[in-house]
Amino acid sequence: MRIVFLGPPGVGKGTQAGRLCEEFGLAHLSTGDLLRAAIHQDSPIGQKARDYLEKGKLVPDALVTELLEQNLARIRPENGFLLDGYPRTVPQAEALDGILLRMNLPLQAAVLFDAPDAVIVDRISGRRFCPTCGANYHVRYRRPTTEGICDRCGTSLEQRTDDRQETIRTRLQVYREKSLPLVELYRHRSLLVLIDASGTPDSIYESLKLALPRKIPTA
Ligand code: AMP
Repeated sequence: MRIVFLGPPGVGKGTQAGRLCEEFGLAHLSTGDLLRAAIHQDSPIGQKARDYLEKGKLVPDALVTELLEQNLARIRPENGFLLDGYPRTVPQAEALDGILLRMNLPLQAAVLFDAPDAVIVDRISGRRFCPTCGANYHVRYRRPTTEGICDRCGTSLEQRTDDRQETIRTRLQVYREKSLPLVELYRHRSLLVLIDASGTPDSIYESLKLALPRKIPTA
C-alpha cells in the first residue's frame, strides 16, 4: 500500500495512521513528527523549522521535502508506506510525484479525513503528549490512568505549543488556503478516498478499512 493521508490538523490522521501501519506493516512517515524530532535534536532542519511550527505556519516546501526524501531513503518503500501530513501544498504534491516516479512506486490512494471545525477544535485543545516516549493522550477521550502522567513511562504530559487555541485557528486557516486544493488534485486523478472523521476512532477505522480496497484491491 502506498497512500497519503490528508485532512485538517487534529482530525485524527495520526491515530488512524498508527493503526493502519501496525495492521498492514506499512512504514509510517509523519512530517509533523519528523519536524518535531528535528527540532528536539536541534538539527539544521530543526533550527530552520522551529519558528514555523510555533506559529502554526507551514514549513517551506523545499525544507519539508528534503526531510521527507531523507526519511524515504531510510525505509524500504517497496514494502508500502503511509505519508501522514505530506503533501500539504500543491508544490509538495508535485515534488512527491517526482520522487515516486523515480522509485517507480506510484501513489495508490489519497485519503481525506474530514470533520466539522467544532469537532476538530475540541480534539486538538484536549490533546496531550509525553515528551519522553511520544505517547498520545486526550483529556477526555484517551485519559491516562493518573491524570497528567504518562502510563508508559511516568513522565508529566504536555500540550504541543501549536495545539493552543490561538494557534489552532491559524492552522485551520492555513489548511483551507494551502491544503484544500490537494483534494481536487487527487479527486481529478481518481485517487481520493473520503472518510467522515467525526465518529469514534474505532468507527473511523472501520470506514477506512471498508473504503481502501476500492482503490487498493489487496488492502
Ligand atoms: P502535524 O503534526 O502534521 O499537525 O504538523 C505540525 C506542524 O508541522 C504544522 O503545523 C507545520 O508547521 C509543520 N508541517 C508538518 N508537515 C508539513 C508539511 N508537509 N509542510 C509544511 N509544514 C509541515
